[in-house]
Amino acid sequence: MKKDRNPLLRVDIITIFPEYFTPALKIGPIKKAIEKGLFDVRFLNLREIADSPKEVDDYPYGGGAGMVLKPEPLKRALEMAGHENGFVINFSPQGKQLNQRLAHELIEKKHLILICGRYKGVDERIVEKYVDLELSIGDYVLSGGDVAALVLLDVLVRLIPGALGDMDSAATDSFESGILDAPYYTRPAVFEGMHVPGVLTSGNHELIAKWRRKMALRRTLKRRPELLRKLYLTKEDLDFLEEIEDGD
Ligand code: SAH
Repeated sequence: MKKDRNPLLRVDIITIFPEYFTPALKIGPIKKAIEKGLFDVRFLNLREIADSPKEVDDYPYGGGAGMVLKPEPLKRALEMAGHENGFVINFSPQGKQLNQRLAHELIEKKHLILICGRYKGVDERIVEKYVDLELSIGDYVLSGGDVAALVLLDVLVRLIPGALGDMDSAATDSFESGILDAPYYTRPAVFEGMHVPGVLTSGNHELIAKWRRKMALRRTLKRRPELLRKLYLTKEDLDFLEEIEDGD
């Protein structure tokens, strides 16, 4: 396939484990986006960039358990990635939490440079001098930023125009329209005595769209009511919500 010379998103990943990403690049939307030239990902292997294995990490000043990624190879990697024209992200459980809205903002940056920490993290002076955003994928602690980088890649690639086929359309997914998605069913029509909701086999697309909207609103009300407060609701939505609250 012909490659576009200007990918819509370029990502440089600074890591000590580039092999962590290898299988993920060969599957699904990430693979498709790379093949179509919409997405370009490169790896900067800190172990190769460092002058010696000893230069990659070191004990923390002040003592205590765990190692810290040293600043010199990180600086070199950032220069190789062209950090002056890119948006530098350091993964950290202390960072701003990733969500769909932030993902839309990040894709606009066009060139992201991701620092994948390990052990206790990276030397704080790297964060002070080079990092534009510290990013968390949730309130838990991973053993490395590589896992977080994979999550971010997957979320972002889905948003690149043309990266997803119709088969995996993102527009109706949860959070895209501000609420959760409706439930889905496929063949067979009866499974273990449970029937597919009749409306879905009616062929009436207007009714199906209304049913999906209602189910999505119901789920959001039950599971994530705070999302509804931020949403512009139509008169029909409000009627649906009233029906749902009345027990329908
Ligand atoms: N000492 C740090 C945790 C280090 S965990 C602290 O307590 O704040 C090692 C690395 O895993 C981090 O440098 C970061 O790159 C990654 N990481 C851990 N938890 C993460 C999270 N919730 N989101 C994003 N990255 C995370």
